[in-house]
Amino acid sequence: MSLHIYNALTRELERFKPLKQDEVKVYYCGPTPYNYAHIGNLRAYLFEDFVIRTLRFLGYKTRTVMNITDIDDKTIRDSQKSGKSLKEFTEFYSKEFLSDLTKLHINHADTISPISELIPDMGKMIQWLLDKGYAYMSEDGSVYYSVAKFKKYGKLANLNMTGMISSVRIDNDEYEKDQVADFALWKAYDKKTDGENAWEIEIKTGGETKILKGRPGWHIECSACNMKFFGPQIDIHMGGIDNLFPHHQNEVAQTEAYTGKQFSQYWMHGWHLLVDNKKMAKSAGNFYTLRDIFEKNKDISEVIIARAFRLMALQNQYRENFNFTFDRLGAAINTIKWLDEMMKRLGRYQDSLIWDLTGTEWLEDLRERTAKWRLKFHEISREFRDNQQAFMQEFVEKLEDDFDTLGAMTIIFEYQTYINSAVDDEAFTLEECKSLIDLLKTWNEVIAILDFDLLKSNEVIPNEILALLAERNEAKLQKNYAEWDRIRNELDILGYKIIDEKNGSRVEKK
Ligand code: AMP
Ligand code: ZN
Repeated sequence: MSLHIYNALTRELERFKPLKQDEVKVYYCGPTPYNYAHIGNLRAYLFEDFVIRTLRFLGYKTRTVMNITDIDDKTIRDSQKSGKSLKEFTEFYSKEFLSDLTKLHINHADTISPISELIPDMGKMIQWLLDKGYAYMSEDGSVYYSVAKFKKYGKLANLNMTGMISSVRIDNDEYEKDQVADFALWKAYDKKTDGENAWEIEIKTGGETKILKGRPGWHIECSACNMKFFGPQIDIHMGGIDNLFPHHQNEVAQTEAYTGKQFSQYWMHGWHLLVDNKKMAKSAGNFYTLRDIFEKNKDISEVIIARAFRLMALQNQYRENFNFTFDRLGAAINTIKWLDEMMKRLGRYQDSLIWDLTGTEWLEDLRERTAKWRLKFHEISREFRDNQQAFMQEFVEKLEDDFDTLGAMTIIFEYQTYINSAVDDEAFTLEECKSLIDLLKTWNEVIAILDFDLLKSNEVIPNEILALLAERNEAKLQKNYAEWDRIRNELDILGYKIIDEKNGSRVEKK
C-alpha cells in the first residue's frame, strides 16, 4: 500500500502524489484570535497535526504554513469593545492559542503569518483580478469578486451552478451555506464598524491611481498567504469542514484566476466537534475552551487531561463528527493512566533485568556467566523480530489508509496487551526491551501521547512505607487478612496505593 487521501476536490480516495518529492507543501487555515480557542477549533488543529506528523513519519519532507486571521469582522468588533488596539488584542489571543497547541503537543507550523503583514501582497492580487475582469469596484471603493467570471466556481464545494445569476453581493466574511454570491476582496472603510482600523492599497484603473482605504476580505487573506510563502501551487490544503464553503471555494476562485494553475492538489477537512451530540454554542451552555476542561477536572493534572483529549481526537476518524462528552474524557483519562502503567512496568522490568545481570557476577563459572548474559541481554528471538515487524506494518497500513488514527490506536492497544503479558511472563531480554521502547518512540512521533520519563522509576519510597508493606506481606503469609486490609487502608491514608502483581505487592505514590 502507499498513502491514500480522501480528496474533497474529487470526492475520492486518491493515491498521494506530491508535486515535488523532496518538499510537500501543506497549508491550513489559522485561527481568528478574538477569544480563547474552543475545543472544536482545537480538534481541527489536532487533525491537521496528525496529518503532518504522519507525512513526516512516512518519510515525506514537509513545509507547513498557517495564517492568523487577525483582520476580520469579529476581531475588529471585539477589540473595539475591549478598548484595546487590534494589534494588542489579537496578539494576546494568538499567544494563548499557540500555548494551547503546545499543551496538546501540536507542532507549530514552520511559518505562522498574521494577515495584517500581508496587505501589499493582497493589493497585488486584487489589482490583477481587477485588470483581468474577475473583480469589479463599487462606488464606495470596495472591490468584489465576480463569481460568474470563474468557470469552475462551485467545483470544490460541489455546488450546482445551473441557472445561477450572480447578482447578490456579500460583505460579511462568513455567509450562509450554498448562498452563491459575489464576495468582497476589499471593503471600503466604514467608521461605524472599523473605528481606528484602516489599511490602504494602491489600485490603478483607467489610467488613474486610487488609494483604497479599508480592509481586506477574509478569503483573499489565505490566497495571498499561500502565494507569498508557497507560490502558485501547493500539495495539501486543510481546514475545518465549515471552511469548505464559502472560504475554500473562494480561495480557489481567487488563486486559480490569478495563476491559471490548479491551486491545491488535495483538499482535506476535519469534521466538527459536538458536545453531547449537539452543536457547541455559548447560548446552549455547552461551550468549552481547554482551560474550561482543565477547570472541570481540577483533581487531575492538566498534562494528563491534555494527553487524554489528544487521545480522544486520535480515536475519532477525522471525517466523522467528534462527539465530546465528559464521560468519554473520563474514559480517555483512564486509558492514558493505563498506558502510563505499561510504561512504568516496562521500566521496572528493564531495571530488574539489569539487576539480574549485575547479580551474575557471583557466578564463578565464566562460561555459565557468559551464557546467561547472552540469553538475558543480547538475544533477540526470531519470533520477537517477526512480531515487531508485523506490528509496525499494521500501524503503517492504518495510517496510509487516509490517516486512520483510530485503527492505528487499536494496534497500539494490541501492542500494549502483548507487552504487559510478556512482562508478566518475564519473556523479554534486555535487548528486546530496548527494541520495544524504540518502536513505541517511533509511533509516538505521530500520536505524541506516551510518556517515556515513566520508564525511569526514580520514585523514592520512604522506609516507614516499605516497612508497612513488609508487615502487610507478612500478614498475608500469616493469613491475617484483617491486618492485611488494615495496612492497605493505612497506606491509602498516607497517600500510597498498593499494586498486587503476580510477582508480589508493591506501593506507588497516588
Ligand atoms: P476560526 O478561529 O473560527 O477561524 O476557526 C479555526 C478552525 O477551527 C477552522 O479550521 C474551523 O473550521 C475550525 N472549527 C470551528 N468550529 C469547529 C468545530 N466545532 N469543530 C471542529 N472544527 C471547528
Ligand atoms: Zn483560510
